[in-house]
Amino acid sequence: MTHPTANRTVLISGASVAGPALALWLHRYGFVPTVVERAPELRTGGYKVDIRGTAVEVCRRMGVLDAIRAGSTDMAGGSYVDAKGRTVGEMPAEIFGGRVEGDDEIMRGDLARILYERTRDDVEYLFGDSIAALDDDGGGVDVTFESGTRRRFDLVVGADGMHSNTRRLVFGEDERFERYLGAYISIFTAPNRLGLTRWETYHARPDKLICVYSAAGEQAHTAKNCFVFASPEQLSYDHRDTAHQKRLLADAFAGDDWEIPRLIADAADAEDFYLDAIALIEMDRWSSGRVVLLGDAAHCASPASGQGTGLALTGAYVLAGELAAAHDDHRTAFDAYERVMRPGVELNQRFAAGFVKEMTLSSRWKIALRMAMVRTLPRTPWKNLVAKKIRDDIQRAAHAVPVKEYRVPVRGYEPGCAAPTVSA
Ligand SMILES: Cc1cc2nc3c(=O)[nH]c(=O)nc-3n(C[C@H](O)[C@H](O)[C@H](O)COP(=O)(O)OP(=O)(O)OC[C@H]3O[C@@H](n4cnc5c(N)ncnc54)[C@H](O)[C@@H]3O)c2cc1C
Repeated sequence: MTHPTANRTVLISGASVAGPALALWLHRYGFVPTVVERAPELRTGGYKVDIRGTAVEVCRRMGVLDAIRAGSTDMAGGSYVDAKGRTVGEMPAEIFGGRVEGDDEIMRGDLARILYERTRDDVEYLFGDSIAALDDDGGGVDVTFESGTRRRFDLVVGADGMHSNTRRLVFGEDERFERYLGAYISIFTAPNRLGLTRWETYHARPDKLICVYSAAGEQAHTAKNCFVFASPEQLSYDHRDTAHQKRLLADAFAGDDWEIPRLIADAADAEDFYLDAIALIEMDRWSSGRVVLLGDAAHCASPASGQGTGLALTGAYVLAGELAAAHDDHRTAFDAYERVMRPGVELNQRFAAGFVKEMTLSSRWKIALRMAMVRTLPRTPWKNLVAKKIRDDIQRAAHAVPVKEYRVPVRGYEPGCAAPTVSA
C-alpha cells in the first residue's frame, strides 16, 4: 500500500464526533493523526443524536454500525401534554424522528466513546490541552499548545465545535460566522421526575417548548430536561459561566406552571448543564492554507437540523477520502471536500432555519391549534400522508450529501482493492 509521503502528520483539535471519526479514516489511509481535546478526559455526557441517511452508510464503512445499534436510545415514542399533565396526543418514535429502516439514535457521549475506543490504540490523543497559537509557513504548521509544548504538523483540522478555537485563531471571532436563529436551547441530566421509560414528553407554552426524555441506557432514575425559548435579542453571557446561564434559564421560565418549576430547579445540581444559542455557522470557505475546519466548527447546522452529527461523520469520511485521493496535494483535497459537502450542508442549514420557527409557537391560540392537530390527526385519513411528508423532508436532508467512493488503498488491504467499503 502507498502511504502519503507529504502531509502525513495531521493535528485534529476536538475529540467528540468529527475529530475521532476523521482520525479513524486518516489512520486507515496511512496518515499519522494526533487529536488534542481541551477536556481532561473524553466528554461522555450529552443528548440523543440521530444517525440517518448517508451517515448510516458512513458508519457501516467505519465498522461502528453494530456498536451504534447496541447503544441505541431505543425510544418507543413521545407525547404532548397540557398544563395539567394530561396527554393530548402520542406518536411512535419513527414518526417523531422521521426515521426509515436503518436509521438510529444514540447518545452523543456513547457515540464519542465508540469512536474513541476504535481509534485510541492507533491514534495519539492529548487530553487537557488546546492549541494556543498556529503558524502556517506554507510548508507545515508550527503549533504551540497551551501546555507550552511546541510541535510541527503537516496539516491542522479544527473539529472543535460551534465555538471552534481553531476557527477563531485562523479565521476570526465567532460573531463573523454565527447566524442566530432567534432561540436558545438548554439541556441537562436530572432526576426522572416524570417516571419516563424510553419516552419523551413535550409541553408547549408561548415562545417556549419543554421536552423531557429518558432513553434506553440512561440510568433508570435519570432523564434529560430540555428547554427551548425564543428570544428576539441575543443574550449576553460568558460561555464558561454556567451559574449565570442557569439564572438566564430560570428567568426565561419564571412563573410558568406544569412541572416547569421542579424541572428548572434540577438545573442547580446538573454537572452537564448546557445552554447555547440555536445558531448556524456560515463561512465562505472552510480552509486557509494548511488548516481546515470540520463538523460544527465549519458549518454548524444547529440542533434544529437534527443533522449535525450526520454531517460531522460524513464530513470526516469525505475529508479523509479526498486527502488520500489527492496524493499529498492538500489544496486539491480541501477544494474537493468542500465541493462534495457544501450543497448538502446548505440544504440542512435551510431546513434548520425553517424548523426553528416551528419549535416554539408565539401565542396560546397557535398552541391550541397545534394541540388540536396532535389530538385529532391520528384519527384522520391524512395521518399517513402527514407522516410521509415529515419523513420525506427529513430523509431528503439526511441524504443531501452523496456517499462518494474513494478508490484508495486502506491499511490492512492489498493495494488496488476497491473502496474503503471493504474495511467495514
Ligand atoms: C442540545 C443539542 C441537541 C442536538 N441534537 C442533535 C440531533 O438530534 N441530531 C444530530 O445529528 N445532531 C444533534 N446535535 C448536534 C450535534 O451534537 C453536533 O452537530 C455534533 O456533535 C458535531 O460534532 P463535532 O465533533 O463537530 O463538534 P462537537 O460535538 O461540538 O465537539 C467539539 C469538541 O471539541 C472540543 N473542544 C472545544 N474547544 C476545544 C479546544 N480549544 N481545544 C481542543 N478541543 C476543544 C470539545 O470539548 C468537544 O469535545 C445537537 C446538539 C445540541 C447542542
